[in-house]
Amino acid sequence: MEFLKAKKRYEEITKILEKWSYEYYVNDNPSVPDSVYDQKYEELLKLEKEFPNLVTRNSLSQRVGGVVLKGFKKVAHERQMLSLADVFNKDELIEWVNKIYEELGKEVDIMCELKIDGLACSLVYNDYHLSYAATRGDGTTGEDVTTNVLTIRNIPTIVSKEARLEVRGEIYMSKAALNELNKQREEEKLPLFANARNAAAGSIRNLDQSVAKSRKLDGWRYYYIDAQRDGYTRHSESLDALDRLGFKTNHERRLAHNLKEILEYVDEYTIKRDDLAYDIDGIVLKVDEFKYYDDLGYTAKTPKWAVAYKFPPKEVKTKLKDIIFTVGRTGKITPNAVLEPVRVAGTLVSRATLHNEDYILEKDLKVNDTVIIRKAGDIIPEVVKPLKEERDGKEIDFKMITNCPICGYPLKKVEAMHFCLNPKCSSRIIEGLIHFASKNAMDIEGMGDRVVEELYNEGFIKDIPSIYELYKYKDRIMLLEGWGENSVNNLINAIEKSKSNSLERLLFGLGIKEVGQKLSKVLAKHFKTIDNLININEDSLLGIDDVGIVSASSIINFFKDEENLKTIEKLKEFNVNMEYISLNENNYESTFFKDKKVVVTGTLERFGREEIKTLIENLGGISTLSVSKKTDYVIVGDSPGSKEDKAKELNIRIIYESELYEILAKEYNL
Ligand code: NAD
Repeated sequence: MEFLKAKKRYEEITKILEKWSYEYYVNDNPSVPDSVYDQKYEELLKLEKEFPNLVTRNSLSQRVGGVVLKGFKKVAHERQMLSLADVFNKDELIEWVNKIYEELGKEVDIMCELKIDGLACSLVYNDYHLSYAATRGDGTTGEDVTTNVLTIRNIPTIVSKEARLEVRGEIYMSKAALNELNKQREEEKLPLFANARNAAAGSIRNLDQSVAKSRKLDGWRYYYIDAQRDGYTRHSESLDALDRLGFKTNHERRLAHNLKEILEYVDEYTIKRDDLAYDIDGIVLKVDEFKYYDDLGYTAKTPKWAVAYKFPPKEVKTKLKDIIFTVGRTGKITPNAVLEPVRVAGTLVSRATLHNEDYILEKDLKVNDTVIIRKAGDIIPEVVKPLKEERDGKEIDFKMITNCPICGYPLKKVEAMHFCLNPKCSSRIIEGLIHFASKNAMDIEGMGDRVVEELYNEGFIKDIPSIYELYKYKDRIMLLEGWGENSVNNLINAIEKSKSNSLERLLFGLGIKEVGQKLSKVLAKHFKTIDNLININEDSLLGIDDVGIVSASSIINFFKDEENLKTIEKLKEFNVNMEYISLNENNYESTFFKDKKVVVTGTLERFGREEIKTLIENLGGISTLSVSKKTDYVIVGDSPGSKEDKAKELNIRIIYESELYEILAKEYNL
């Protein structure tokens, strides 16, 4: 890129970043997620690297972000309050650590701390008493927020030190306090806080002291500014000293003696972060011995002896390339976002459901929009909103379709949803078959989406009963690409095995509207056989706790339908079990996991994390996060990390996936 072009781009980016910074630092109300800000800021740094002449004293890279709000008394920091340099992935982190080791000529101790998502605050004590508390501001001058800080109970106002003492740390709001606050604000129809950092900052930087007082703030201290003067040589020692002086420090910190220990800490807290009572957005690494600080030095904005490793974003920016429609087994039409593939919280996302027409219109989404996406509950990708300021006129308005995209049948709108009511719509049939074979229904191994689609399109299956006649096509399936004798045999065996499933799996698999996994189980347990259920009347159904009017009438209608009854008859002819098989409940007391503390580590092939936890807990087990002497079993999947080593060290029984599967199959009578 030539210089003039780069300069123009540099100015454009600066303008956008300034706007976002203003919203973030001044209003405590960001309009974009941090990761979007970080991505843009990275672009700015890249330009600076290529064209160093772009950098001026006023460049964002040369200033600590933040401003001093009008209305607050200004405080000049005796020593500048700097920010931290960021690294965004493990490679960059390793590079930073190795550079430190190289510059110092050896492996040095590095303190690993949690990066609390709050607001930096400096406490200055003179003559045993708190003189003032100040925000970071622009790094040189902060806001005097003493009256607000005094509302935080764990910040001491008196210390056992006469000399000037400066202690810095983070003021934050716990997840529970933030939830409670947002709930209250929702009731009062006030805008919600986007995250804990903004809630904490908005409370501390509020001229009305009663606001801070009502907000349940907390504080951790992580810098003892006068530590060297007071005779300490290491950051770790100085934190222990702060504890003794009555300050609250975070005890999840750990001193790492080498790169391996640093990476272990990062991995451990990447998992544990969701279980902490407060939000963290990364890990801070600090060289432990003060004697190296001057050698390593500082930039205008950050110390070189520390770095912040930022967790992979849960919210990122990408392009909405298209909106396509899928047809579910009930005929429900779902619009889906086709996205420019992007990594969110560790996985590549290229699709996200847009639920229904109203959802798209409410969010005002247009094809070609730049959108923010995030992982809801860390699992399902969700489109949060379009970035309207990035529109360039190429966006296309959304228009709901009127006919089924698969069979062309006119769609029927029921409340916010559209349905294809054609029972012969191939998409509905395929989705119904996929559901029947799925893990939570008949659990036919090897019969996933692609296989069902292929077998249907080849004409080997056409409805649920035909699955049990698939063996007739064995020779022909073997001729299909990617199939062999073994894979066909495995599939036929899995189908055969599914015949002995307990009734609730069949009920769920049949896809009765309003009857989910839980209700299927309730019904199976209650009625014991499918015939009892077929002959039931609405009143008896309504007598069952979990059955409501809607589900009752849906069940009655399902079993009135001739086609459905035919399906059941055929399944009976194929010897598919129609009775409830008790899941070992009689001897629940003696299950393998009863009262056992269990840790799961690594990736399991057949089970998701939550799924395995539920399975263990249903058998009376207790699922825990870290391995200790009290752990009974450690379940080990792929890439298990240090927990497996620790289990071996402590002589704890390790269970690998194949054995786990056998245990669960036995416990659940599968
Ligand atoms: P930062 O938040 O990335 O890191 C520095 C801060 O970390 C310190 O000032 C301190 O407050 C905090 N911290 C937490 N735990 C710590 C610990 N154990 N030890 C030391 N420090 C600890 O840097 P910043 O300059 O405060 O903010 C820049 C970041 O703010 C950007 O990376 C961006 O993510 C975010 N930002 C977002 C927007 C937006 O619009 N969303 C705008 C501007 C800035």
